[in-house]
Amino acid sequence: MKINGLALFALIFFLSFAARGGEGGRVYASFGGGESGLKLTPAVSRASIGLDDFARQHNLTLVSAPGAGSIELVGKGVSLLFAPGLPMAAVNGQSSTLTQAPFVLRGEVRLPVEMESLLPSASTRIDGTVVLDAGHGGNDTGCTGFGLREKDVALDICLRAGELLRRRGARVFYTRSRDEFIELSRRSEIANSQPDAILVSVHLNSVATGSKGRENARGVETFVLSGRITEGARVSAAARKYDLAGGAEAVSYNRKKEIIAALSGFSRDRARTLGACLQQRLVGELGETDRGVKQKNLAVLRETYFVPAVLTEVGFLSHPATAKKFKSAEHRQRVAEALTAGIADYFACPE
Ligand SMILES: [Zn+2]
Repeated sequence: MKINGLALFALIFFLSFAARGGEGGRVYASFGGGESGLKLTPAVSRASIGLDDFARQHNLTLVSAPGAGSIELVGKGVSLLFAPGLPMAAVNGQSSTLTQAPFVLRGEVRLPVEMESLLPSASTRIDGTVVLDAGHGGNDTGCTGFGLREKDVALDICLRAGELLRRRGARVFYTRSRDEFIELSRRSEIANSQPDAILVSVHLNSVATGSKGRENARGVETFVLSGRITEGARVSAAARKYDLAGGAEAVSYNRKKEIIAALSGFSRDRARTLGACLQQRLVGELGETDRGVKQKNLAVLRETYFVPAVLTEVGFLSHPATAKKFKSAEHRQRVAEALTAGIADYFACPE
């Protein structure tokens, strides 16, 4: 059973408050040690592991004291929150129920071994920051087809992917999380402001009404910035936009330009890797036609200077069978899962 993360926090808050006095205090007082503690922890015969051993085995660090009611352990791409006496735990904000609550025995916090299964394995964790950019929004509907609007489908996929990414430990930002108009330059600014992030812009394709072969075009394609846009042009634009000529820092304008050039060149290389990872997963997991990773001079890619940026067209709304698929939540979830897998591949692949 999954429950709302907020509900868990509320419960933990209640319990930690109660533990300091009031009715619930008895639970903690009796777990605190001595004979009564043993009586009240019949589950001790079941497999459990001490908090310190658990943390060490999973490379986690204790960030809140056991005496505070709730306990949080954090590690690379994972946060585990729980409270002794409460049969549930939250991993990266996602709560799950436990068959046995963590407990305190002779002053030591012990965790049921089932808590190990809640942790994402090291191989599935995503240690990175992802800016998800749902294309269009507000007055800008994007393309339409068979009753679907690009802005709605792209947003739904981004929200689903964001949830999957968060569960795997990634830090997620959205350029928009509802139906609103956002300038293209603003989308890039959000990505530029997140060090070590990637930007993934999600769109749906279409062939214009009346065009030849409209109903036949299908498949997935991913774009990186056109090689025709020179670093020099981007560096000047970035230097102007971020006012790198000004400021009190004792770094020369030319030095700053060099820094931007290095960063944007780097982000371009990484964008090609990211594009390939996404395209491969989308094509493979959706069984779609591979239209390839292509280059294009797109504003959202051109103006994202400091981090890798790609734009992926996850399907054609002008293609009848594809549009029909996008009407189902299951398909949109599959697209979100494919994007998540591609992003995980990217972060797992060495620079
Ligand atoms: Zn679009």
